[in-house]
Amino acid sequence: MVNSNFIDNEYSDIFERNRVYEFTICHEIGHCFGLADLGFFDTRNSVMSEYANKITTYQPTVNDINGVKASYDLN
Ligand SMILES: [Zn+2]
Repeated sequence: MVNSNFIDNEYSDIFERNRVYEFTICHEIGHCFGLADLGFFDTRNSVMSEYANKITTYQPTVNDINGVKASYDLN
């Protein structure tokens, strides 16, 4: 669920705020494809990681694409 109040309060810069919205939407779409949230200390480069840099990670990464391919046996 997108909490816009949290994002708006946390990021005052409009460029960063928009990137975080893109990250969040991409993350939620990842769930639609069956990807799970990554663990607390998992810092893999992925939109599914809570600890990804949300400013630079706003599109699916290679790890995300590989995760979807593996889920649907597309490798
Ligand atoms: Zn999630």
